[in-house]
Amino acid sequence: MRLLQSRNAVREGGARPIRWFAGYGLHEALPDHSSLTRIRQRWGAELFRRIFARSVQACVKAGIAKGKVVHIDATLIRADVAWESLGERHADAVLAQDGDLSMPGEDAARRQAERDGKQTGRYKKVCLTDPDATMATNARNRRLEPAYKQHTAVDDVFGVVLDLEVTTGQANEGDHVLDRVDAAAAATGRSAAAVTADQGYAYGKVYGGLEERGVDPVIPAKKEPARSRVPLPRFRYDARHDILKCPKGRVLRPQRQTEHGRYFYSRAAECRRCPIRGDCLSKGRVNKAVVVSDNLPALLRARRRKERWSAEDARLYQRHRWRSEGFHGEAKSWHGLARAIRSGLQNMRIQAFLTAAAVNLKRLATALCALLDPHASARLILGLLAIVATVAKRRAAGFAHSASAHAA
Ligand code: SF4
Repeated sequence: MRLLQSRNAVREGGARPIRWFAGYGLHEALPDHSSLTRIRQRWGAELFRRIFARSVQACVKAGIAKGKVVHIDATLIRADVAWESLGERHADAVLAQDGDLSMPGEDAARRQAERDGKQTGRYKKVCLTDPDATMATNARNRRLEPAYKQHTAVDDVFGVVLDLEVTTGQANEGDHVLDRVDAAAAATGRSAAAVTADQGYAYGKVYGGLEERGVDPVIPAKKEPARSRVPLPRFRYDARHDILKCPKGRVLRPQRQTEHGRYFYSRAAECRRCPIRGDCLSKGRVNKAVVVSDNLPALLRARRRKERWSAEDARLYQRHRWRSEGFHGEAKSWHGLARAIRSGLQNMRIQAFLTAAAVNLKRLATALCALLDPHASARLILGLLAIVATVAKRRAAGFAHSASAHAA
């Protein structure tokens, strides 16, 4: 962890094992720490990505990364930004101030509390010293922090990190999962049979994208939130006729395309006579408009599956927590990934690639040590001897049987 800082790397480089590892003699002068900084800047993040990719390839070759089951997760990394360096967007601040002046006292106080506390919506602060970082939190009741987000794909067998990417903190993890799955498939040379992720990934586009790739999504689907008195699950989609049926049996037809779905509309004349129109329609509307995601069938399948979650699904999901959350915990506790050591997205990516490469090399070393372990070798030899003895016994029995038959 300490070696991530260029100054520390040079200082610790005085230790004999590190000198030996880096190819420096005992009396040779080590480079200045500023040289390491310049080399890092000149190489750029893509070269560190290639170093990380080499560590993945070494693990694949050693047979400790198979890519059959891949665990996807994201974690927030605290940006290297002081609280004093946070500011409000100028335009938003001016608008908020204008709004506050024309607002009654209670509203103004509420908005001020939002700005000071949770910083919801447009009152989110900006990081003045590191504009690539954004305010994010991983829990409703936790304070927003300037952060980056690492999106990671971890292999099931030994916990090898197959792929990762770093984005700004407020990026949606659902937008990055399919890229990670494709990259993991490219790294291992095979498409994953199953991908696990937590409820933060339970979107129709994720289920649909994974099903298109022939991957089994082990992602616990969320229940449809009931926000109105006539909730959306009461509108039934008929895939054969491509229509939506409302609770009163009226037909809603598709009319307008959005980025991830289509708007279905009811007829105003039918809604006008409906006894539940007061509960069903929004204020001021004469008909009902419902957005149906392009991947609704995949989402509905995932919801039905969650109701009959099998023992194998539960086992894989349990391994997801152990593998992917375990990797993030390890990287943060032992390799300094809890906080960015430099500002800027490219520096953060370099830190993440180096950390993942170090963890992969640890996995590789552990696997090789297990192979060289004398106890493991002894167990292996005893197992082989037992197999040889069984085969010899069977052969001898067969020989004796054929000899007695011959004598008779
Ligand atoms: S208001 Fe319109 S869409 Fe809603 S239940 Fe009545 S008929 Fe159906």
